[in-house]
Amino acid sequence: MQQLQHRTRARKLYASIPGIFKCTSIAAVLKNKVFYPASVTYQAEESLYWSAQQEDQIPTCRIAPTSAKDVSVALSILKAQNCQFAVKSGGHASFAGASNIDGGVAIDLLNLTSFTVSSDRKQVSVGTGLRWGQVYIKLDAMGLSVIGGRNSDIGVSGLTLGGGISYFSGIYGWACDNVNNYEVVFANGSIQQVSYTTLPDLYFALRGGGNNFGIVTRLDLASFEQGKMWGGAFNYGSDTFTSLITAFHWFNINHPEDPNAAVILAFVWFSPSVGFLGSVDLEYALPVVAPPILSNFTDIPDLSNSGRITNLTDLALELAATQPAGSRETYWACMSQNDEQYLNDVLALWETETVKIMNVTGVLPVLVFQPISLAMISHMSKNGGNALGITAANGPLVLINVSSKWTYTSDDALIQAWAKSVIDKTVSLGKARGVWNRYIYQNYAGQPQDVFAGYGPVNKAKLVSIHKKYDPNDVFTKLQPGYFKID
Ligand SMILES: Cc1cc2nc3c(=O)[nH]c(=O)nc-3n(C[C@H](O)[C@H](O)[C@H](O)COP(=O)(O)OP(=O)(O)OC[C@H]3O[C@@H](n4cnc5c(N)ncnc54)[C@H](O)[C@@H]3O)c2cc1C
Repeated sequence: MQQLQHRTRARKLYASIPGIFKCTSIAAVLKNKVFYPASVTYQAEESLYWSAQQEDQIPTCRIAPTSAKDVSVALSILKAQNCQFAVKSGGHASFAGASNIDGGVAIDLLNLTSFTVSSDRKQVSVGTGLRWGQVYIKLDAMGLSVIGGRNSDIGVSGLTLGGGISYFSGIYGWACDNVNNYEVVFANGSIQQVSYTTLPDLYFALRGGGNNFGIVTRLDLASFEQGKMWGGAFNYGSDTFTSLITAFHWFNINHPEDPNAAVILAFVWFSPSVGFLGSVDLEYALPVVAPPILSNFTDIPDLSNSGRITNLTDLALELAATQPAGSRETYWACMSQNDEQYLNDVLALWETETVKIMNVTGVLPVLVFQPISLAMISHMSKNGGNALGITAANGPLVLINVSSKWTYTSDDALIQAWAKSVIDKTVSLGKARGVWNRYIYQNYAGQPQDVFAGYGPVNKAKLVSIHKKYDPNDVFTKLQPGYFKID
């Protein structure tokens, strides 16, 4: 079976050879920043995608710009040649074509690694080739932090352009609500600074608009003083699942009373010998062991836990170690109100559906509930508001995420059908119970899901018109075909 996957890759590689001529005009200008399939650098960059589906894509060449100017030059040539492209930051989007491309050109931002801290320590500027772990290790040493991913391997810009949930989101909001300024290469090749004061419409669009509006080359992030914190992974047996959901439900309601805390509640089908497990990430922004806001969880007897006083870098590395790269992957999402009975029903339906894929090689089905508390939502209206369309009405809310990894392409259709069926049934159940919310989190959504419809008709129409204004020739929606498109 593995041999078959290697053969498919070799066939695609061969098919991409005639297209190499498309890259030569870019190479004439960017010279040693353009890499072809036979090169070691090309192959190393291809191996940096998180999912096997993305790694399987064979671009004709890969470009690794070292400045916004390089990005602008590459974009202008791609436009002139009508050549399709994809843009990669950390490469963690799961489905094929999200940040890689078959036969087109991949712009890999990995060498945009600038990092500066303002003299008043209130702003950290990061190049969009950095991953959160690279940012945190520097900031922890300075007693500072920013709103970013909880897994060290995620790229700074994919996460931020889709929203971005952090352990500190109860205190400061999502990542997209904590960007002071975006440096953006526009469709016309110009490089501009986008903030609430310079270009408020585009600033709004970038707060959730994904890859539809430009290529972001630097993010100026609001930073804050942050010392040691408490947290870790808590593992529970299946006999505790009802209690875990009750704890989650009350945490979501109580979060505004102590927004220092963060929770990710996951249910995992582990293996035939282990069965279903609960795995809860509990964090607290201060060095306080098992704070009262989290006692509904910590009072439940666990099988094991890694709770300790540590720093964000360590916690982000811990999470990355449990989510290694290299497998086939799927992520899907939906949202509901914070209804305890509904969450129990969703868990039951996920368990029933999951029985159907238990024998698939390498499978690891996961159901995740994340609180979108009123504490988090209260920050979404900062600086004119973001594009996500999440409001406090009927809040707090629950982000529901269904995912799995697996080994072989031959199981792709089965796993995708499983994930779609779980999400469709979860949505139907939510609608029947009156607790469904239309929002779909872009950063966890499955390829066929209509993310921008979930932002609501008003925000979607606003995004479409902002897109028309800044990208009238549809460079980012047609020449860059991958990921979620605004129109
Ligand atoms: C293991 C794992 C852990 C995760 N943890 C979290 C978490 O803690 N919090 C959270 O909110 N989400 C989390 N996510 C979801 C994550 O935010 C998304 O997968 C995100 O898109 C990844 O960003 P990236 O830069 O690594 O991905 P990429 O695949 O590089 O990019 C994703 C999309 O954004 C576009 N893009 C990226 N950079 C730019 C840019 N500079 N300009 C224009 N377009 C760009 C790409 O073209 C692509 O379409 C996690 C996902 C995984 C798989």
